[in-house]
Amino acid sequence: MDYLKSLNEPQLDGVLTTEGPTMIIAGAGSGKTRVLTYRIAYLIKEKGVDPFNILALTFTNKAAMEMRHRIEQEVGSDARNLWMGTFHSVFARILRAEAEKLGYPSNFTIYDTDDSKSLIKKIVKELGLDDKVYKANVVYNRISSAKNRLISWQEYTSNPIYKSDDENALKPEMGRLYKVYCDRCFKAGAMDFDDLLFNTNVLFRDHLDVLNKYQHKFKYVLVDEFQDTNISQYLITKKLSSVHRNIAVVGDDAQSIYAFRGADIQNILNFEKDYPELKVVKLEQNYRSTQNIVNAANSVISRNKAQLPKNVWTSNDQGEPIELMRATTDNEEGKIVASSIFENKMQKQLDYSEFAVLYRTNSQSRAIEEALRRMNIKYKIVGGLSFYQRKEIKDLICYLRFVMNHQDEEAFRRIINLPKRGIGQSTIDKIVIAAFDHDISIWEVMNNAGSFIGGRGAEAIGNFVALIRSLEIDSQRKDAFETATAVAKNSGLLKELYDDKTIEGLNRYENVQELLNAIKEFVDNPEVEDKSLGAFLQQIALITDVQNSNEEDPEAVTLMTIHSAKGLEFKYVYIVGMEEDLFPSQMMISTRADLEEERRLFYVAITRAQQKVYLTYALSRYRFGRPKSCEPSRFIEEIDPSYLKVNKLLSAREPQAPISSNFAKNLVSSMRRQGQQVPPKPLHQPSTDFVASDTSKLSTGMKVEHPKFGFGKVTGMDTDGANKKARILFDRHGEKVLLLSFAKLRIV
Ligand code: ATP
Ligand code: MG
Repeated sequence: MDYLKSLNEPQLDGVLTTEGPTMIIAGAGSGKTRVLTYRIAYLIKEKGVDPFNILALTFTNKAAMEMRHRIEQEVGSDARNLWMGTFHSVFARILRAEAEKLGYPSNFTIYDTDDSKSLIKKIVKELGLDDKVYKANVVYNRISSAKNRLISWQEYTSNPIYKSDDENALKPEMGRLYKVYCDRCFKAGAMDFDDLLFNTNVLFRDHLDVLNKYQHKFKYVLVDEFQDTNISQYLITKKLSSVHRNIAVVGDDAQSIYAFRGADIQNILNFEKDYPELKVVKLEQNYRSTQNIVNAANSVISRNKAQLPKNVWTSNDQGEPIELMRATTDNEEGKIVASSIFENKMQKQLDYSEFAVLYRTNSQSRAIEEALRRMNIKYKIVGGLSFYQRKEIKDLICYLRFVMNHQDEEAFRRIINLPKRGIGQSTIDKIVIAAFDHDISIWEVMNNAGSFIGGRGAEAIGNFVALIRSLEIDSQRKDAFETATAVAKNSGLLKELYDDKTIEGLNRYENVQELLNAIKEFVDNPEVEDKSLGAFLQQIALITDVQNSNEEDPEAVTLMTIHSAKGLEFKYVYIVGMEEDLFPSQMMISTRADLEEERRLFYVAITRAQQKVYLTYALSRYRFGRPKSCEPSRFIEEIDPSYLKVNKLLSAREPQAPISSNFAKNLVSSMRRQGQQVPPKPLHQPSTDFVASDTSKLSTGMKVEHPKFGFGKVTGMDTDGANKKARILFDRHGEKVLLLSFAKLRIV
């Protein structure tokens, strides 16, 4: 019972009132998650409830793991039997057991987003629809949002409202796509992510015996982050708990940040209507943060009209005011943050894991990551990839690499059919095999595509070669930025991303723009002498190869979007990019409700901190390759000034030099000093003096030597247009057909 002593009175009330419906709607850091955790421990330990009868739903797998771990400390290994996890993981488990009732095999496949999108692409093609109108992302999101609102394809196709919506959006075939997509998933024995919730609802609606079984099984149902549940999730929990009615939900309306994905704050209000006997527990004491942080956060959120009244206070120390730091550019912002983290760590004897850097959009991680790498500070990106690991960034970098080096096979494989230009895997294989067989480069094969491949493949490759050639010519006259912009535009990469208007598409487009911005800053840096694309790529290779980023690393600074930071806490929190249009996001605010959601996001960000919050903004940030001056975010002014301090020292500092060519040298020597492996310099191909001898005299029966295949005998000659080919039976490699104009053969 010791653990119960560490609770205040209302918290204890929340733990001990195990029977009947309970709702805890309370401010950030007030111990909501702790109450849920202790409640479960209490049920098992003191009330003797079997963990198999407890269902606990969390927002992330990580949160579930942490909770289970904490409960295990109290109750031992029994905690493993709890039904605990995200909505998706728990209901996937139930669907597996009951799949046959819905006509699915019990080993049904779960399609991830990529699987779903590629199926949609296929269907769009098969139905002969325009894939520019019916983009996979757009169709996927439309279907996903219907499923999350529990609108089946049957309802979707028969309800004139959806039909006219789609017609207005010039996508009249959306309903048909929804139907065919569902049919195909079903036939393939597959469910997508949204089906996991949708089908659970169908299961409980159509199979009362199944519902009944789980209603009796789950004597206690608990939900964390209740403010971010959608209607589909709400109905599932409501049905499951309607027999025992022991449901406990905890949340904070001020932290509702997923309305854009269908989360509905109404669920909190409905809850009171659905359970008239509801016990409401209020927690007002914040245990996480200093007084300054709590008060600053309160002053911000009080500007929202739509909120349940709350009085959050803390008896923690007053602490330091929130510190505002101004940077000249985004790169300087990265540096300021990195050096501040370093100084705090040293002065306060902290661990890097006690720091978090939070941003509004993913593309902002680039400048922060580079600054941290430069100072050799380890970091991890939670809920996303490191900037240079992101697909769209790798795609563009591979293009740039290929323009500079036509032998780069890895880059070739990545970009040859990107965006789609009708070059299939078999053509790619042919190119690689021909290059191998003739011991020439893939570029040479592509330049002679007619001889090696022929047909439509050859034409598509011809166009690709022409594109790369023209970009290469560009690169000889232009600087890295101009070349990279030409590559992004002329390759079609940028347009493809631009056309994709979904949130993910927008994110990817911003990332590519951010890479171009980074190249522009490199070019504009007076310390950089060689401004060519080659010089930029060389520097990037060094930056991206250093293993500073490892998600498993317990001793690293955490970088993440504010959305991913929900429920977490850190001693020191840096909120970067506090600028108008970035935060609040220009894309997301068209109504007051949107602005209020952005403000709640800011509230979530501030309340992650235990000891200190830093806000940073830049006076100028590259946008679309041009420095654009920025205005500080309105949210800064919304903080009561008594809790805010402006750091004059840092803001007045001269900007330091951005990435210099010396940086690469310093990096390599510091890596060597630390015993790290330095990426090897690219090796030159060993030159071969194996020059083809005059093969015009070659005829059947002659013995030849090939640099790779060794000795062999000509078994036949063949002429295909202008191309002379020899069939040769090699002693150790079997028979090969080689084009004589390329094969390096010596007659022996
Ligand atoms: P959020 O809204 O951010 O999800 P929360 O309300 O779930 O926050 P918790 O994460 O449960 O809050 O608690 C915040 C911090 O306060 C945690 O470190 C927790 O251990 C601590 N805490 C909560 N209650 C107490 C208490 N009674 N005594 C000491 N520490 C507490
Ligand atoms: Mg919590």
